[in-house]
Amino acid sequence: RNEGIGSWPGRRARKTPHRTALIHQQQTFSYADLHQRTNRLAHALRAAGVRRGDRVAYLGPNHPSFLETLFATGLLGAVFVPLNTRLAAPEIGYQLADSGARTLIHDPSLYDPTDNGGGSQGDGGASPAEVSPAVKHRIELGDPYEQVLAAAPDNPIDEPVGPDDICMIMYTSGTTGRAKGAMLTHGNLTWNAINVLIDQDITADEVALVSAPLFHTAGLNMITLPVLLKGGTCVLVGAFDPAGTLDLIERHRITFMFGVPAMFDQIARQARWAEADLSSVRQLTCGGAPVPTPLIATYQSRGLNFQQGYGMTEAAPGTLFLAAEHAVSKAGSAGVPHFFTDVRVTGPDLSPVAVGEPGEIVVRGPNVMPGYWGLPEETAAAFADGWFRSGDIARVDEDGFVTIVDRLKDMIISGGENVYPAEVEDVLLGHPAIVECAVIGVPDEKWGEVPRAVVVAQEGSRLDPDEVIAFLSGRLAKYKIPKSVVVAETLPRTASGKLLKSRVRARFGAGPQ
Ligand code: ATP
Ligand code: MG
Repeated sequence: RNEGIGSWPGRRARKTPHRTALIHQQQTFSYADLHQRTNRLAHALRAAGVRRGDRVAYLGPNHPSFLETLFATGLLGAVFVPLNTRLAAPEIGYQLADSGARTLIHDPSLYDPTDNGGGSQGDGGASPAEVSPAVKHRIELGDPYEQVLAAAPDNPIDEPVGPDDICMIMYTSGTTGRAKGAMLTHGNLTWNAINVLIDQDITADEVALVSAPLFHTAGLNMITLPVLLKGGTCVLVGAFDPAGTLDLIERHRITFMFGVPAMFDQIARQARWAEADLSSVRQLTCGGAPVPTPLIATYQSRGLNFQQGYGMTEAAPGTLFLAAEHAVSKAGSAGVPHFFTDVRVTGPDLSPVAVGEPGEIVVRGPNVMPGYWGLPEETAAAFADGWFRSGDIARVDEDGFVTIVDRLKDMIISGGENVYPAEVEDVLLGHPAIVECAVIGVPDEKWGEVPRAVVVAQEGSRLDPDEVIAFLSGRLAKYKIPKSVVVAETLPRTASGKLLKSRVRARFGAGPQ
């Protein structure tokens, strides 16, 4: 019996065959279509030698074939490995080799192993040396992929797959170092989807906009899989475009969307923002990176239900969620743990910290991964007493609501005081001429380290460092106020819009400026 997520399209097709599962550009796929295509792909993969436990990598933008590959590998008990399309060729080569994938389904414009050019992704493919030698079998997306499906049989595949079998290896975003492969079981993904169904009241009438990348955990697990489990519709968008998002919301009468703060920020800066028809939107979930207070205010003042979520790849990812009923009264908080998940904010000995005190978030529950692929030491270090250590700092209020403070790794210690850059960044974003900012620690003879702000000016505005510092005084304690301000053109970010603090430090951390 297949108890894994690979069985979902078939189960859905039994219940609601004619409902629309996926929309991509002008194409529409019913649950019956999704089931048939998934089953055919599974046959083709099996014929190509894919067996239980084998890794199948996928490299491409949001598209039905991404989900078909996930479900088809799930039907076979094989392991899905989604790759980040924004990585450079050597990084893709690393993840292919690390996962040991022998099969690769990919967009040839993103990855062409026969190209000798040696360019990076998105501008010309990889050199043969950068392709994992383990890859023996490739299917190119587009016509070749469609031909593979057309040639495969239709009889149903029924392999036994259980909740503890590994469903996928999903690499973390690589924000703090080299991305690690989180092993997620079928049970992890199912429990996360159930958590989201319960806490976000997902219905079969949902029309979800999936413009966050599916290769990152939120786009796949906080929106797509829960909606497909419930029988709703997902509109898949290959490349996020803020102006186009408003058009898509109107055209498809979108009810639900997830975005990282950078996406929601860009949407609200569109000329059409004020008059776009957003009346169909029932909920917007924002998370994946610190959610600035001014951003929450922008969406709430537009009358939208703007909810914060917090999670991590290793927890598949839903961990904390601030539901609609508290979204205004507890604005800024990431809420309370998801239904089947436990969270603690702890001191070094794992005991809960007092109300209002900062501590590390630890999490446990049926959504938490069994470990990192091929990294037993990192796995051992990441767990304490069955709790997964997030590496994030938070505070809990008297009602149990958790507010994310920052990453432990980004904390600045200045004269013995802890400075959390995210708190300073939040205040900086309230400055009318600042669109983006990052606060880092720079060495200081007297204080050990002092904060420095790197700011990007709004188009058409000029920023004066002294004026920025003056803006902060009175709004923050003196030791938190940056001693220097650098005006930059842009800030380095990951594919999903997360600030790459290590690169900000490397680029802007040296010199008195
Ligand atoms: P890596 O682990 O490779 O360094 P990463 O931690 O960015 O990368 P993800 O698993 O995609 O990889 O992201 C999880 C992290 O994102 C969390 O640990 C946290 O730091 C941050 N995050 C997620 N949601 C929120 C939120 N609502 N507020 C603040 N930070 C958040
Ligand atoms: Mg992480």
